[in-house]
Amino acid sequence: MDIINIERFRDFFQGYQDENGRYIYIEQIQRMSLEGLTSLIVDYDDLLRFDPELAGKLRRDEEQNIDPESTIEEADSALEDVLKIEDRSYVLEAQKKKEAFHVRFFNIPMLVDLRRLRAVHLGHFIAIEGIIIRQSVVKPLLVEGKFQCNICGEAQTISQEEGIYREPSFCVNPECGKKGLFNLLAEESKYTDLQSISIQERPETLPPGQIPRTVPARLVGDLVDTVRAGDRAIAFGILKMKKAEKRGRLATFDPWLDVNFISSREKEFEEIEIDPETEQQIIELSRDLSIHRRIIRSIAPSIYGMEIIKEALATVLFGGVSRVAPDGMKQRGESNILIVGDPGVAKSQLLQFIYRLAPRGLLTSGKASSAAGLTAAVLRDPETGEFALEAGALVLADRGICAIDEFDKMNPIDRSSIHEAMEQQTVSIAKAGIVAQLNARTAIIAAANPRFGRYEDTRPPVENINLPPTILSRFDLLFVIKDEPNEEVDRKMARHILELRRGHILEVAEPAISMELLRKYISYAKQHIQPSLTDEAMERIEQFYLDVRKETDETSAIAITPRYLEAIIRLSESQARMALKEDVTIDHVEAAINLLQTSLEQVGKDPLTGRVDIDILLSGTTKTTRSKMQTIIDIIKEESRRSSTEIVSVQRLKDLAKEQNVEEDFVDKVLEQLRTNGEIYSPRDGFVKLA
Ligand code: ADP
Ligand code: MG
Repeated sequence: MDIINIERFRDFFQGYQDENGRYIYIEQIQRMSLEGLTSLIVDYDDLLRFDPELAGKLRRDEEQNIDPESTIEEADSALEDVLKIEDRSYVLEAQKKKEAFHVRFFNIPMLVDLRRLRAVHLGHFIAIEGIIIRQSVVKPLLVEGKFQCNICGEAQTISQEEGIYREPSFCVNPECGKKGLFNLLAEESKYTDLQSISIQERPETLPPGQIPRTVPARLVGDLVDTVRAGDRAIAFGILKMKKAEKRGRLATFDPWLDVNFISSREKEFEEIEIDPETEQQIIELSRDLSIHRRIIRSIAPSIYGMEIIKEALATVLFGGVSRVAPDGMKQRGESNILIVGDPGVAKSQLLQFIYRLAPRGLLTSGKASSAAGLTAAVLRDPETGEFALEAGALVLADRGICAIDEFDKMNPIDRSSIHEAMEQQTVSIAKAGIVAQLNARTAIIAAANPRFGRYEDTRPPVENINLPPTILSRFDLLFVIKDEPNEEVDRKMARHILELRRGHILEVAEPAISMELLRKYISYAKQHIQPSLTDEAMERIEQFYLDVRKETDETSAIAITPRYLEAIIRLSESQARMALKEDVTIDHVEAAINLLQTSLEQVGKDPLTGRVDIDILLSGTTKTTRSKMQTIIDIIKEESRRSSTEIVSVQRLKDLAKEQNVEEDFVDKVLEQLRTNGEIYSPRDGFVKLA
């Protein structure tokens, strides 16, 4: 260690004054013993201002023999010296406990793109931004081993570098000098806490279609558990290379970051820079009276039709306002939406578009693209073999939008933990000594294929969608896209797709707002606009809810539940945000109601009565319908048992049904449905038989 550098660091700690004339570092050092801290956090810019040459020694320079790692050690040593002056007993006590003091630097100007991490960065003090995707359990790491010679009993201390276990090569007792064996005196050795993490490129900086890069990193001492899986963080540290384990292997570059300081960033949407000129453009755009229509038209313009789904997607992109009620209950602002559709109706294309458009968008597939799946998993860390918590897609998309294709194909673990993620927006995990609750404040836009290949109208949604009702009920909006031949629509769509192919994009599908601008517009809206309901908006929502609930009383079909009340609020707020309005007005509420009603009609309509009934969505049929249907089926069974041919007359069936208060129309509809389901057939006109 260079004594002069240590002295200069001492001067810096004792002599640096900020613009208000405060000695901020000496104040920090004085507080360390009171707060039981072992590290001092230093802004690199302060050091640069105070002693540029010393600051320069944190930059590696092989020619001048400058190694940042030694410079950091010198800073640590200076800290200990100054701390000794301030509180000698605290230092002595720490030494007894074998604790070390550290200086931690932030604002190191060498920010390296994870994707551009190369061999030239080895040994450099760099900064890396990314998402923590994995965190291991915390384990003690041997820093200094005390070893005893098995033959003469002489003890010696060996420092353990970079976590690789090293025994003495020979006994230090000149009379012994044997090469072994040695015992580690575990109680007299020095340890520190160690946690391995993995830092991954942020989805928003990832070029579309690329697999994100990851770099392993190590946190020691008081840094462990200061960040969580799913956090966006900036890490400052020295890039090191893993020592080759075996000979004969390729000497490849296998880097890891020895973290000096790490901090998570909680800022929202800071990623997209909006210059004043663009801001002006955004504000002007928002004044356009047809801004809603223009935004909707800008959603996947190359995909034909699907206006209502595009409107829903646009709305969800903006999102409502998340709030915490006075009693601490969290109310999510993000809406979840599910699109179920026949194969080849451009579901995947829509998701692709949304993912590219959304600030902080993430695209994944239910068919586990990573072992952590959609939520989170405890896995063995490939680096260390320790158990580690790995964040899944919804955690990584925190404060963003998660597009999930093939949602119905998600793995069983996700199936059981997705409920919490969708409603509470957290993912809790307790396994193999890891207990954690991760944030998943994300809007979910999911797509699924129908269970039987094609969506069958005669079956209720629960049968068509391969997902349990408990999951379905957590979607605010649910849409069905059917691929039905229709000459006029087919002609228009064919024309649309063909024209696109010929490059006639301008005439047919000119986006009203460019993707680049819309992306900034959304980001701006989410950052600056926090709409709240006006009195009239509140009244309108209340009225709608009460009206629909009243129908419920009369028909005993449950048309709406309180969950959808919250959905309308979220969607109304999103609608206001689309126009950069702080006030949610009746127009916004009407648009939200329209979305919800369309969605409910698509999936909650009883195929027999034509009425919306939430029970349809959740259990397949309504209670009354179910019992009436059962009555008819019972009659058919009973009658076919009596008849030798097992054939039942429809007229007799209707007569018997009437006796039990089931009207003729209804019998016809039920028979129709049973026929399509293949449960009965007609051997002759006017007669049915069980299949
Ligand atoms: P899915 O995921 O629903 O099975 P895809 O997204 O893979 O379907 O779409 C299949 C193809 O059909 C895509 O190339 C898509 O562009 C085209 N396509 C389907 N419907 C439309 C439409 N309405 N407008 C334009 N292209 C469409
Ligand atoms: Mg698909």
